[in-house]
Amino acid sequence: MTRDLFIQASYLASSVLFILGLRSLTHPDSARRGMHLAALGMLLAVIGTLLHREIIDYRWILGGLALGSLVGYPMGMWVPMTAMPQRIAISHMFGALAATLVGVAEFVTLANGADVGHAQMAALGFEVLFGSLTITGSLIAFLKLQGILPGLPLTFRGQNVMSVALFASGAGLLAWLVANPAQPVAFHAMLFVGLGFGISLVLPIGGADMPVVISLLNSYAGLASAATGFAIGNNVLVIAGALDGASGFILSVVMSRAMNRSFGNVLFGAFGTPQTGSAASTAGLTVHAVSPEDAAVQIAYAHKVIVVPGYGLAVSQAQHQLRELAALVEKNGGEVTYAIHPVAGRMPGHMNVLLAEADVPYDRLREMEDVNPQFESADVVLVIGANDVVNPAAKHDPKSPIYGMPILDVEQAKHVLVLKRSMNPGFAGIDNQLFYMPQTSILFGDAKASLQKLITEVRQA
Ligand code: NAP
Repeated sequence: MTRDLFIQASYLASSVLFILGLRSLTHPDSARRGMHLAALGMLLAVIGTLLHREIIDYRWILGGLALGSLVGYPMGMWVPMTAMPQRIAISHMFGALAATLVGVAEFVTLANGADVGHAQMAALGFEVLFGSLTITGSLIAFLKLQGILPGLPLTFRGQNVMSVALFASGAGLLAWLVANPAQPVAFHAMLFVGLGFGISLVLPIGGADMPVVISLLNSYAGLASAATGFAIGNNVLVIAGALDGASGFILSVVMSRAMNRSFGNVLFGAFGTPQTGSAASTAGLTVHAVSPEDAAVQIAYAHKVIVVPGYGLAVSQAQHQLRELAALVEKNGGEVTYAIHPVAGRMPGHMNVLLAEADVPYDRLREMEDVNPQFESADVVLVIGANDVVNPAAKHDPKSPIYGMPILDVEQAKHVLVLKRSMNPGFAGIDNQLFYMPQTSILFGDAKASLQKLITEVRQA
């Protein structure tokens, strides 16, 4: 009795810690504390679970703990921030795999469904269907983001029909199983249909839609865990899964809005392929390359500088040099703010985290809607490793794959200074007219090296 009480108390405490952790994650100042609270919550949940009377042998559990630590530690320590989306995708795959295996084990243990009630079958079926589609969906997302599979949408004739057929069969099998749980063949068929649906769901998605898919799969993995909690009567799994499912879903909606995908597309995962065609040609246009000395003159005495950070800033890890340059501009009497696009970089909040690492004050960060009217009056807009999020084709070229995505209105500025290494495109793989406009100069080179040169020059100016 005391042991059961202790288990339930630890589950309650860990649920409270998860909620407080999530709450703290909503602000960069408290985000680190939020992570610690959530990790403590997870530790309590694990301890509570290990005390269950049903556990008669700890050897497999210890083996799993050792294996998990062996895989998890290097993943946490050595995977760079820029590879975070694929790392998250593979974590979702493991989470969904665990939920699915628990579902299958539970079904088999309960006399292949003969001892399963209708309500429990609904939870088990939901768990296995969502779990299995999340396994393969996350795996495909990982392979695409890691560059093992092409990142572009992979389509074939009749793909949409196949996806709808798989979805309908999965849902049909689930309904049938709820009515007649003792159907092992139908149960395993549903598992394979789920695995197939995950592949057909993510293969046709590519380019700029990937972040939405990742957070949607996060939501699916959470829902599968919540269903596991119902199936095996574990309260903390229900609560943690529901938190994960709901927050992943909200994030998907917020990101899809930022990328101009409709709510319906997010809900049903039917993203389809982006429009084909290319953005207006830039052939024959020339760019204005600038030297560090000339670029420094533009910045040194500017009154109003808006920095647009992007993926390239994260690649070159130049956030500390950026902060140093901003301090010099401020010392000369200038004002520096940072324009944050919701999908700049490669994961939600990427730029916020990066700038927080360099102690950039949070109140200098401006969201897209607030900063867009400001570009017109800026003396210089410093674009560092950003490309798609400042591509004006999104506004006026219906043939562009990113048409409709809200962007930062950098092209309105009087002077734009871009730091990048070459004329290579960004994530969406398309050219950017901004780089050829008369007000734009490009300082070619790695962002960190270029910022270091600018710091030296501004100091001398
Ligand atoms: P981007 O469009 O991918 O462009 C990155 C730019 O950085 C490129 O122009 C590249 O040009 C430059 N660059 C790369 N390494 C550099 C270095 N070491 N030094 C200087 N420049 C460097 O980036 P973005 O404007 O931030 O847009 C983000 C894109 O990623 C969007 O399409 C978004 O949909 C997608 N996405 C976002 C998320 C998310 O959740 N935030 C997740 C997945 C995908 P060079 O090679 O010429 O240097």
